[in-house]
Parts: sequence; structure tokens; C-alpha cells
Amino acid sequence: MFRTQIPKHFDVPRRLERLAELPYNLWWTWNAAAWRLYRDINAELWERVNHNPLVFLREIGRAELNAAAQNSHYLERYDAVLARFDAYMQEKQTWFRRRYPQAEAQRIAYFSMEYGLHEILPIYSGGLGVLSGDHLKEASDMGLPLVGVGFLYMEGYFSQRISEDGWQEALNNPLRFEDLPVLPVLAENGRPLTVTVPLPERDVAVRIWELRVGRVPLYLLDSNIPDNHPDDRQLTARLYWSDLNLRVMQEVVLGVGGVRALRALNCRPTVWHMNEGHSAFLTLERIRELTVEGLDFEQAAARTRGSNVFTTHTPVPAGNDEFPLWLVDKYLARLWPELGLSRDQFVNLARHRQAWGDAFSMPILALRFSAGRNGVSELHGRVARRMWRHLWPDRPVEEVPITHVTNGVHTDFWMARRLKALLEEYVGADWRAHLADQEYWERVNRIPDQALWEVHQHLKRKLVFYLRERARWRWIQGGFHPVQVVASGALLDPYALTIGFARRFATYKRAHLILSDVDRLLRILNRANRPVQIIFAGKAHPADEPGKHLIQEVYRIVKKAENGGRLVFLEDYDINLARYLVQGVDVWLNTPRRPNEASGTSGMKAAINGALNFSVLDGWWREAFNGKNGWAIGEDRDPGPDNAAQDRADAESLYRTLENAIIPLYYEDRGPDDLPHEWIERMKEALRTVTPQFSTRRMLSEYMERLYYPAMQNAAED
Ligand SMILES: *Cc1c(COP(=O)(O)O)cnc(C)c1O
Repeated sequence: MFRTQIPKHFDVPRRLERLAELPYNLWWTWNAAAWRLYRDINAELWERVNHNPLVFLREIGRAELNAAAQNSHYLERYDAVLARFDAYMQEKQTWFRRRYPQAEAQRIAYFSMEYGLHEILPIYSGGLGVLSGDHLKEASDMGLPLVGVGFLYMEGYFSQRISEDGWQEALNNPLRFEDLPVLPVLAENGRPLTVTVPLPERDVAVRIWELRVGRVPLYLLDSNIPDNHPDDRQLTARLYWSDLNLRVMQEVVLGVGGVRALRALNCRPTVWHMNEGHSAFLTLERIRELTVEGLDFEQAAARTRGSNVFTTHTPVPAGNDEFPLWLVDKYLARLWPELGLSRDQFVNLARHRQAWGDAFSMPILALRFSAGRNGVSELHGRVARRMWRHLWPDRPVEEVPITHVTNGVHTDFWMARRLKALLEEYVGADWRAHLADQEYWERVNRIPDQALWEVHQHLKRKLVFYLRERARWRWIQGGFHPVQVVASGALLDPYALTIGFARRFATYKRAHLILSDVDRLLRILNRANRPVQIIFAGKAHPADEPGKHLIQEVYRIVKKAENGGRLVFLEDYDINLARYLVQGVDVWLNTPRRPNEASGTSGMKAAINGALNFSVLDGWWREAFNGKNGWAIGEDRDPGPDNAAQDRADAESLYRTLENAIIPLYYEDRGPDDLPHEWIERMKEALRTVTPQFSTRRMLSEYMERLYYPAMQNAAED
């Protein structure tokens, strides 16, 4: 039918031949013992190739590999890693098999526009993508029968440079497929397997790449093939075109092409999960398949709705994905006759009436044609019910059928290796089996203060030294002003209280809130004997002018000599930098304008590494904060309509808590052993409460219970 095959093109000693196989399953990305098989051969090269084992194998000298093949200690670890990998891939008693033995034959298709799996695959832009990546890793760990569908963007997401005057510059760096652990899916004749998607002027063919994420396959679509018109070959080149023409075509390719790809792969999903509205055209393709069999539109819609699941991530109406009707006429005109609909009937499937004209709304399409619908935190569920209540006019708002599953993070991927070693020593060697068991995590209290603090200090030193090295390297590269060397962390202090703020630069995230009173902030940063440093990082969408101006404003203050190098802005925030930051800082700051942060996940990553969250009570933190595991900014209520007043009140709350609670707790309450015991108490409280509750383990068991399993039952009845 079709096949994928791992290429054999590396010169690796026979005894270590599986070093060339491991890279093709991203299992190595969340198993430190696996990637350390490469790093320990040549740590400097491992850094230089950005943790890419395929490039590493191409560049490493045969002599170094031979030496490893002679080293009995290395061979022991190599054998152990591969034995673990094989056992993992063949495991029969997975969580899913034990909990849902009756659902053996089910299959869940998961569609997302972006996947943040590892820094070597820049096919994500931010939180949505990282969530999708974590979803796949955990589905693999739990044995869920899930397959992912997305795009392989040949130009990747942009890399960010900041000019001396603070302006974001976007660099495109085309991916080299031979450097990526993706495998072309081939048809029986050895040619790439393709499916076609109808666009207005012509059909477009897409090929399929397979990426293995543990036990979960991820199929990535790619239109860059010679059969296509040159314009169409660019269609899947980039993530999030600002040009709506390209956007709508891309979404047709994802929704319609994605369904066709799974059919061509002979994969028979029983549940179809749309992660955000970008893939909502899949609902129409499923309906079309049944109309070909003779059902009319309504019958086909009724037959498919029960097995569709839709997750919304967007609490602001303006953030929703929608298209003006002229674009619908231009790009979708081939679709409605195939569904047996007139143009108006088609538009009415997802019509969103607005003051400036009607639009075709992807979330409305997804909401109408799914039976399972959810927001991504409790508060966001409430906001989504209010936002979409007009679709269920005869129901009170609390009965609008949108539930919530709060996001989580993949613990093994995001938690520092040394911290996991502490868990193994003091909490239990089997902690992974109890990942979502809150009672089990009480045992975090068994970790000695000294041991936890030493690991934390180590991780903070590692962060600071890494950032200094990056600053040095950028300076050597050239085109970098000396003040930028300081602005990128050259003067960071491994012993100062360190606050991290890293996320997409969108104005509602209010990166400037902590900078709103610069004089007060400078007094906080520069107090003798208790310095504070703040590290900012984040990209703005290339078309988001206010976001880019916000970076410029932050950079202007970061460059001021008066802050003594204690304010830092890091270029090119990505998964690698995120890992260093969440593992190394003391405090994780988040200041969204409530209720715009649907969930947020970076704060979870920080908390499971012992950092203390200091955040607005929005999204996930509203559920997690218990008065002892971090600090709140502002109060637990919806703000009024006056944004400026809200910003002032939140800034005052922020400064006051920093001055009166956070800094004294860090510096003043130290015992005779010079350990900040009360601070460490809070770190344990954060680890204990956040790790189980905000893990993807808890998240996916809720997806199973509230959304996937009901959809499986609906599918069985149809
Ligand atoms: C976790 C993560 C995000 C999401 O962070 P939020 O808290 O949701 O803003 C964005 N980018 C990267 C690289 C991440 O690792």
C-alpha cells in the first residue's frame, strides 16, 4: 500500500548502528538518556548543531564514534537506552488499554496548524503549537490510538533578530529535509504518495511526510512538488500567511487534504479532533464523502457531527479565524455544489454577522459541526460560552454546550533532568506511573531543602552561563552593538533573584506592565545586596505592528545604562530557550489583560521546575494559585471596560507584591545555613500542586473522558 523507510546514509560503527535509527523517532527528545548518547560523544558539536542528532551524525568524525564503540561504560548506556526504547514501542499494558479495553479498534485523528515538538523542527509559532506537540508526546506515553495531521513548512517559522534600535527583523531559514527526522510516505511504485485538493483554478497535489512521535505518527502535508503550479508549491511554505488568499487555501489543504491523506494512508479515524478552527473544513469533507454515497447534506451532517471534537483557544472575538465572503466566493465555489448546497446555504453554515459586513467563521463552522466542544481553562470555558451563546439562542448561557479541559504540559519533556533524578531519589522511582495522582505528589515534601536548592542553583547558573555564551557568540558574529551584548545578558548574575517573562509579544500580554514606572523598577533592581534581574524574550507575529512596537519599547528600556545590565531581552525565543528559562529562573511573570489568556502553559513548565509563578489570575493560574505556590497580581474578578485604569491597578499590585513579599522572602528570611527555607517551601508547594494537575497526563485523561470517548460511542451508533 504505502511505506516509509529510514535511510541508511551514516557512517556509524556496526556496534552503534542504531544511533542512526533513534533520531527518526522523537522519543529521544523527552528521554534524556537517549539524547545524551550523542551529546556525550562531543558536547560542543551537540550545541553547535542545535541538538539535531542527524546533523550531529553527519558532522562527527568516525574516530570519535569508534572511541565510543570501544568504551564499555558508553556501550552499557547505549544498550540500556535501546532496550528501553524497544520496550516502550512494544508495550502492551498501556494506560489506554487498561482504562479503555473496549476501545481497542478506535482511532483519533488530531488536526493542528502547528506542532512544537523540538527546536530542530521550527513548524510552530508559539503556545498553540507547543500544546499540540505535548499532546502527541503524551498520547504516545498513554498509548492513545492517535494520529496527528499538520504541515511541513519548508521555510519554517522565522528566526528573530533585534536591531540596535529595537526593531524585530525576521530571517527565513529554509529547512533541509535531509536534516529532519521526517520520512517521505511512498506509494507502492516508490513515488511519493500524494492526494489532491480542489482549489478554484486547479487541483493541488500534496505529498505526505511521516514524523514518528513515540508510538504516535504525525503526517505532515507539503505542496512543494514538481507536479504543482509554481505558485501552489509555495502554499505550504510558511506558517500563518498574513495574506488571506493564501490562508484560506492553506486551510482548505489542511482540512480537506488532511482527510484525504488519512484515507490514502488507509487510516480509519473514528474521532476527528480539530485543535483550533484552522482545520474546520474537515467537517465538510467528511460530509462530502457521505453525499457521494447518496446521503443528503443534513443526513451526512447528522452522521458525522457526533464524532467531531473542536477545541477553541481564542477568548477575543477579533482573534478568531474568519474570511470575508468575497474570499469564500473566490476559493470555495467548487465546494458547495459537491455538498448539494447553494451559495447562500453554504455561507450560512458559518455566517458571522458583524457591523462591517458578514464573514465566514471557522470556529462557527467547527462549533456547528462538532458534538464535543471545549475551551482550555475553566474561565476560558465560561468566556467561550458567553462569546458563542448566539449560536444557541434558546439556551441560558451556562447551558451553552461548550465544556473545558484545562491545558497541561508534558512533564518529561519540560522538567530538568536533575530534578527528575531528585524525584527518583526522594519521591519514588515510579513517579511517572503516578503522574496525575495528586495525593502521591504530597511526597515532594520528602525532598531535603538543601538538595532542592542545590539543583535549582545549578540550573540557574546553567541558564546564566548559557546566555552569556550566546551574547559572546552574537558579538563575534558581528553586526551587534556593544550595548546589545549587555542587553542580551552579558552582565547577568547567577546569584541574583531572577524573573523570567517570555512569550509571544501581543499587546494584551502587557510585557510593558512591569516597566510602567521605570524609576520605581530601577530602585527595585539595584538595591545593594538584593539585586533583581528580569529576562524578557518573545517574538511578535511579523504582521503585528503593535506587537513589534511593544518589543521596541521594552528594548529601549532594556538598553538603559541605569539598569546595570539587569534587564535583558533575548533574541529568538524558541523551545530551546524556553527550556533554559523555565528551568533556571526563580520567578515566572505573566501579566495578561484578563480574560484574554485562554490558558497559558509556560507558567506550568516553570512551576514543575520549582519556579514560583507571579501572575494575573487568568487562564490556568486562576485554577492553580492557592496562596502558597506563588503570587497573584490583581484580584479574581473580571475587570471593567477601562483598560488604562486596569493597567494602573495591576501595575501597583505587581510592584507592591514584588517589594513587600517576593524580594524579602528571597533575600531576608534565610536561616543559619543560608538557605531561604520559606522560599523553598513555596517551591515544593508549586511542584506538589502544579505537576500532577497541569500535566498532559491529567489533560488527556479528561479529553478521553469528556470528549473522545463520548465521540467514539457516537461513532459506533452512526
Ligand atoms: C510554552 C511555550 C509557549 C506558550 O507560552 P504561554 O505561557 O502560553 O504564552 C510559547 N512559546 C514557546 C517556545 C513555548 O515553549
